[in-house]
Amino acid sequence: MDKLARATEILKNAKYAVCLTGAGISTESGIPDFRSDRGYYTNFIPEDALSVGVLESNPQRFYKEGYTILKDLEGKEPNPGHVALAKMQEKGVIHEIITQNIDDLHQAAGAKQVLQVHGDASTARCERCNYREDFKAFDERVQSGEIPPKCPKCGGVMRTNVVLFGDAMPQAFDDAVRATEKADTMIVVGSSLKVMPVAYLPRMVEHLIIINKGTTPYDHNADVIFDGEASPILTELEKRLSE
Ligand code: NAD
Repeated sequence: MDKLARATEILKNAKYAVCLTGAGISTESGIPDFRSDRGYYTNFIPEDALSVGVLESNPQRFYKEGYTILKDLEGKEPNPGHVALAKMQEKGVIHEIITQNIDDLHQAAGAKQVLQVHGDASTARCERCNYREDFKAFDERVQSGEIPPKCPKCGGVMRTNVVLFGDAMPQAFDDAVRATEKADTMIVVGSSLKVMPVAYLPRMVEHLIIINKGTTPYDHNADVIFDGEASPILTELEKRLSE
């Protein structure tokens, strides 16, 4: 039995399947990941530049380094991999899409139940009163030199709604744990599975399908491993699930 046939069989027999995605699903949309050869690690260390520590102690540096990731997301479109996952969700083959990505591309492709466990780049929030502002308006203030931007409502400090290194995990992570507790099957797409605590989730399921360029620490637990570009594999998998 080939790998696609085996993955199709697992998903068709799943009692409850969820998907976990990482930066690798969006590289085909032109957004670099962290750990590939052309990933952000080649420019800076995300654990440092994208940390609460730097945001609070050296905001000028934060907005010069880590913040560039948020700017890179502007104008990016979903790719066929995002579309295939949205279709699999619409058909009920997979339930929640748990994503580490902050780019909103699953929703742009039509996915409905998306748990953004590392927040989203499309909004900013006030640390004091939780006032929300669109990234575009927030960024205009950053570009005009207002660092850090002040809350228009209470004067507190505004910041990106992305979960930074050193931040507490948001409610969406608890929801992701609950969804994974219900699941017997998980597809992982485009994640090195090195960022905790999200990387614990694949341990919780009985059947694991991994679609990722390169190895992950969970390869020995997987039922099927596809080592390659995500979108052609997901497109073919979605086609077979529809047959
Ligand atoms: P990662 O960079 O650690 O791992 C990405 C994995 O995807 C790598 O193993 C890489 O080889 C693989 N990959 C790259 N392109 C691929 C493709 N086309 N098909 C299949 N596999 C591919 O990313 P991660 O595991 O998500 O963890 C790092 C953090 O990166 C996350 O916390 C996330 O918030 C953040 N991040 C998000 C974005 C985004 O929103 N698009 C971009 C960069 C980083």
